[in-house]
Amino acid sequence: MTIAGAGNRIDSNTILFGVIGDPIRHSKSPIMMNRAFRETGINGVYTAYHITSERIQDFAAGVRAMGIRGINVTIPHKLDIMSVLDEIDPGAQAIGAVNTIVNEDGKLIGYNTDGIGYVRSLKEEAESELAGKRIVVIGAGGAARGIVYALASEKPAHIAIANRSVDRAKAIAESFKDKADVEAISNEQLQAACLHADIVINTTSVGMFPHVDETPMNADWLKPGAVASDLIYNPLKTKFLQQAEQRGCRIHGGLGMFINQGAYAFEYWTGQPAPVAAMRETVLAALQN
Ligand code: NAP
Repeated sequence: MTIAGAGNRIDSNTILFGVIGDPIRHSKSPIMMNRAFRETGINGVYTAYHITSERIQDFAAGVRAMGIRGINVTIPHKLDIMSVLDEIDPGAQAIGAVNTIVNEDGKLIGYNTDGIGYVRSLKEEAESELAGKRIVVIGAGGAARGIVYALASEKPAHIAIANRSVDRAKAIAESFKDKADVEAISNEQLQAACLHADIVINTTSVGMFPHVDETPMNADWLKPGAVASDLIYNPLKTKFLQQAEQRGCRIHGGLGMFINQGAYAFEYWTGQPAPVAAMRETVLAALQN
């Protein structure tokens, strides 16, 4: 499919995009992606669809029937959407979740841009070289899987995963042990692991609005100068990042991951580089309102 530049208009040639989730009305993806279309002159429009789990099949039929070009998938559909797709990219297959669908003339192909979006953001904003680094990941949910997959491709020296439910950390370590030196650790081992870590990443929801006074770990365990990274972007600077900054760490928040997962999706759909700065400006303004 060719997507021609067409200025800022909706007409008979407008190409459709969107995001599905349940709930979905809080999503910042529509304002971010519509800004990207305006900025690049692509004649596209991106909306939010509230799709419940029992309507996933109907939704996929609708995408094919209407020729919707691209879809982002958010909670709780990143796993169950896989069963209605025609093809799944090997990365998304390994992660076990899809957050982006490309409709190639009726063939629905699933990708996962969360992990690669995170790594692009980490490298641009905090640590350009990940090879040889010791990394600690706190949490072992869906986002952690994508992130460990993408980090493992960067040749880190070691990745340790700590999670409240240690079995989930073990499952991720097992999935990616052939790509890098990845191990699950207990919460009791977290302090020792952080002492030597170059990068510590919070992938849990601890500290997210409205629980802004909570933090996933004691910041005194961090090595001064290390990177403390948090996937949360509401608030933009979590308690974990505030305390890490006081400890002398470099900090990296979750906004860049959100922008870059969208940027990769935009690039898969359109074949053009995403206008990342404009996308960030729009989301930042919306978050600060
Ligand atoms: P998820 O699959 O539900 O996983 C949640 C994780 O948080 C699990 O490891 C869970 O531990 C842990 N957790 C939750 N409450 C906890 C508590 N009270 N104490 C200790 N651990 C706790 O969620 P997800 O999709 O991975 O998302 C995780 C976070 O990343 C969320 O804050 C989300 O907003 C953020 N995120 C950001 C982006 C972005 O673009 N920046 C993208 C995706 C996700 P158990 O396994 O023990 O339950």
